[in-house]
Amino acid sequence: MNGVVAELQAVEKTYYLDRGVPPVEALRGIDLTVPRGQYVSIMGPSGSGKSTLMNIIGCLDRPSSGRYLLGGEDVAQMDDTELSLVRGKRIGFVFQTFNLISQQTVVENVEVPLFYLGIPRRERHQMAMAAIEHVDLLDRRDHRPSQLSGGQQQRAAIARALVTNPSLLLADEPTGNLDSATGQSILDLFDQLHQRALTLVLVTHDQAIARRTQRVVWLRDGQIDEDKVNE
Ligand code: ADP
Ligand code: MG
Repeated sequence: MNGVVAELQAVEKTYYLDRGVPPVEALRGIDLTVPRGQYVSIMGPSGSGKSTLMNIIGCLDRPSSGRYLLGGEDVAQMDDTELSLVRGKRIGFVFQTFNLISQQTVVENVEVPLFYLGIPRRERHQMAMAAIEHVDLLDRRDHRPSQLSGGQQQRAAIARALVTNPSLLLADEPTGNLDSATGQSILDLFDQLHQRALTLVLVTHDQAIARRTQRVVWLRDGQIDEDKVNE
């Protein structure tokens, strides 16, 4: 594998709606290369295509046209089964609303992606515990999401995202539901992950968060408006 994690070439995404409703061109020719280890933020007004772009980078969806190379493999051509396997192995997701399973404990939540990869129970448990330790949540491992603060829930979600040792961590407004002190602690955790050479792409509305990343990609109307490296 070379030094590039993700490469989008002329990526377009069009949503076709009901008959008579004009289709929405959510992405209109995106060229974007994310080198290994880079910490990137994506900004842009509401409706500019940020979530659509994240869904494509995260293999939740495929481009309508163009190429998307993840670790050198062309994802745009894969069927749903291949796509979900690649997603499970290579991508970690963190969402604004945490998206933990409410009936399950922290450990059980963190084990979920390993279950889908067919990893045996003992190994699953060990890997989950290591990820939970990494986000400093061992003392809450047997708690359910409703018994945790927002920040602790987001830590659990980050452990779940990291447990498969992904090549890319994607976060869509990861601090959007947290107070500012808690949000800072999550951003500190992202800084640590970045220092450990993880590749991170996050969507944010917040200039202060974008400034902490190495590179800011601005979207407007489905195109890259500006792509700048922070000093
Ligand atoms: P952002 O995350 O920047 O707010 P989105 O990627 O969610 O932007 O949306 C980009 C455009 O695509 C918007 O015009 C939105 O209405 C449209 N869109 C997003 N998802 C869908 C969908 N599933 N079906 C139809 N249109 C969609
Ligand atoms: Mg969005």
